[in-house]
Amino acid sequence: MTASPSVEPSVDLVTLGQRLRHLRRTRGLTLDQLSDAVGRAPSQLSLIENGKREPKLSVLQAIASALGVPMQDLLRPEAPSRRAGLEIELAHFQQNPAYQALGLPAVRAGRRLPADALEALIGMHRELNRVLTEQTATPEVARRANAQLRADMRRRDNYFAEIEQAAARVLQSVRHTTGPLSQRGILDIAAQIGFTLHYVNDLPASTRSVTDLKNRRIFLPQVASGKGHDPRAVVLQTLGHFVLGHNDPSDYGDFLRQRVEVNYFAAALLMPEKFAVDFLAEAKADRALAIDDFRDAFGVSYETAAHRFTNLATHHFGIPVHFARVHETGIVYKAYENDNVRFPSDVTGAIEGQPVCRKWASRTVFEAEDPYSSFYQFTDTGAGTYWCTVHVESTRSGEFSVTVGTPYEHARWFRGGDVPGRTVSTCPDPDCCRRPPAALVDRWAGNAWPSARVHSHLLAALPPGTFPGVDNRDVYDFLERRA
Ligand SMILES: [Zn+2]
Repeated sequence: MTASPSVEPSVDLVTLGQRLRHLRRTRGLTLDQLSDAVGRAPSQLSLIENGKREPKLSVLQAIASALGVPMQDLLRPEAPSRRAGLEIELAHFQQNPAYQALGLPAVRAGRRLPADALEALIGMHRELNRVLTEQTATPEVARRANAQLRADMRRRDNYFAEIEQAAARVLQSVRHTTGPLSQRGILDIAAQIGFTLHYVNDLPASTRSVTDLKNRRIFLPQVASGKGHDPRAVVLQTLGHFVLGHNDPSDYGDFLRQRVEVNYFAAALLMPEKFAVDFLAEAKADRALAIDDFRDAFGVSYETAAHRFTNLATHHFGIPVHFARVHETGIVYKAYENDNVRFPSDVTGAIEGQPVCRKWASRTVFEAEDPYSSFYQFTDTGAGTYWCTVHVESTRSGEFSVTVGTPYEHARWFRGGDVPGRTVSTCPDPDCCRRPPAALVDRWAGNAWPSARVHSHLLAALPPGTFPGVDNRDVYDFLERRA
């Protein structure tokens, strides 16, 4: 058996078929006439013209000579006419797995398909592709969304009046009038909004909670407490979506915004504005503001207290602040500022994933003798001098520093605001802490091969129509089991 070589793999079969059909028609030949001339069945030629069969080189040569053109004319990459170009494009769109997944029929772009129908289909395919590409959260899309959200938080001094009001109304509806919110209070709130809570041990691993909207049941993990999310916060965040009227997130930015809003809502219930402001006002009068005291008074995590402090500090007390959660490797996981502190950022304006200056309190704390005790530091930077208070917490993914900072002149309202500790940071000047000393460069340049750790969780992608990192099938299976 002899094999005749096929056409080169780079040739697009749909285009080849269109060129063949176009040349055949301009020469006034029917499929039958051409098939007689090349000694092949009409059905075979039809398959080739429809881009469904790859012709052997010998067949292609026979066709070219029957049509009286050089074979290269058949193999040229461009469409033979505008109409043919659109037909080729439609065929390609319909072969796309994203289109095939829709389960819609493939339209035959033959002569009987009207020109306007073809144009309309192509226009919609192009738009669908554009939207799908945009919604696929590339790392860059995620970074831009984060940067935009941070700018919005900064504009509001991280104070969301409408969420404070929603939280206050909820507290009023369950007649919660004093102090921190108890587990009893949380059950009352869920009942008030019309949900029941169910603690289960088979929640999908990719979720914090799953809500059955039909029967208004919220399923939550049976937490052994200790590490992980505050179980009260998880309930309140879930309820927040309903109280704040959230719909399925339309894109990654929307997802992030909802996340920030429900976290805010939960914190505003756990640390109600009125009581929190009273507490902070008293501490400020004593020049003894302290995040640990704030945490202890409301029985929340340090990070929740630090973050809640940023909601209230500027709006109620005129104190500009910054907040940062930094991994022991020096990488920023979360950050906020309205005090002009200059966080490191990439070209998209994103801070997450960037390394902070080694002289900043968020990093020097890891070298402190006892990083778990109260840590305070003044830092001179290009944007001015800042005072910071830092807390280190140990998690499954390593140690994190949680920093709250403020410009020099506001340090006096804080406990530890008179510490002598001081460092100088000249970042982004590479000589501050980034560029290795010349002697080390001499010794090691060209002799080092580091393998990078990828912070992929900072860049979670959002497949269109779902929630990032959550397998909908798991969720539906789960609800099915519980139905
Ligand atoms: Zn530096």
